[in-house]
Amino acid sequence: MPVNAQQYQSVISELTKHHVTLVAVSKTKSVLDIREMYELGQRDFGENYVQELVEKQALLPNDIRWHFIGHLQSNKVKYIAPFVHLIHGVDSLRLLKEINKQAARHGRVIDCLLQVHVAQEATKFGLDEAELSGVVHTLYASGEIQELKNIHITGLMGMASFSDHQETIRNEFKKLKALFCQNNPSSSSRELWTVLSMGMSSDYKTAIEEGSTMVRIGSLLFGAR
Ligand SMILES: *Cc1c(COP(=O)(O)O)cnc(C)c1O
Repeated sequence: MPVNAQQYQSVISELTKHHVTLVAVSKTKSVLDIREMYELGQRDFGENYVQELVEKQALLPNDIRWHFIGHLQSNKVKYIAPFVHLIHGVDSLRLLKEINKQAARHGRVIDCLLQVHVAQEATKFGLDEAELSGVVHTLYASGEIQELKNIHITGLMGMASFSDHQETIRNEFKKLKALFCQNNPSSSSRELWTVLSMGMSSDYKTAIEEGSTMVRIGSLLFGAR
């Protein structure tokens, strides 16, 4: 299915007005589709599967910023460490340490977002409120972050429930924003969180109203998967 250029321009102008970054989610879409959107000026693309991302990255321009938005297994970090721009779904210290190790092997600092679980579905990955504050405490209050010189945590990522109930979705985004503010390690400016990744095709407008700085939009731009 060809990329809808008009749809893209209307989404981009709306996001630009609110200073929100668009990650175009290209999972399952072809290299040709991605190149079409690249020609429209898009540079941030999001993928969920390591092998698919590695294959596409090799075939597409080097100035694309690749976002890994899926559930990342520790043993696969090494495949994306050479080039990945931002890893959205970090949900354990163990994974963070592995990203740090692989980033160091390539002489890179990799940006990461901690994933928070606020949705109703039990299947969604992420840290709950208590786990998040535990991880944040270990990293910043106990100084563990000093050992992790090859990662840079820039904020949080979350998903709302798959629901038709707008109030549920809005409340989950409010919750994410509140957790973002409460846990933001403002004591050291290097570690100040600036990115709140929330909002997809069906709910990105609500997410922006509730303080999103980065949205991950797939089907609205590329057509249904
Ligand atoms: C697939 C996916 C998206 C994009 O979903 P759309 O509904 O197609 O916009 C966003 N975030 C994550 C984590 C995804 O897996």
